[in-house]
Amino acid sequence: MTDINKRCKKCDKVLVRDEIAIYLKLVNRGAKEYLCIPCLAEYFKCSEDVIHERIKQLRDMGCTLFS
Ligand SMILES: [Zn+2]
Repeated sequence: MTDINKRCKKCDKVLVRDEIAIYLKLVNRGAKEYLCIPCLAEYFKCSEDVIHERIKQLRDMGCTLFS
């Protein structure tokens, strides 16, 4: 994967694959820059738990963006 060492565009945290995948899924499918989960939660004005739950749901549904 070329996703290694991608960083959150807001706080510069190194992102894990799920964080990139959920950003693509929820925000912008063609994104080249991403947010980490804490920053994404702030962006959506929701809790991080909501985002973790959404990742889990999408993975359970077999979404190809999630490993
Ligand atoms: Zn961040």
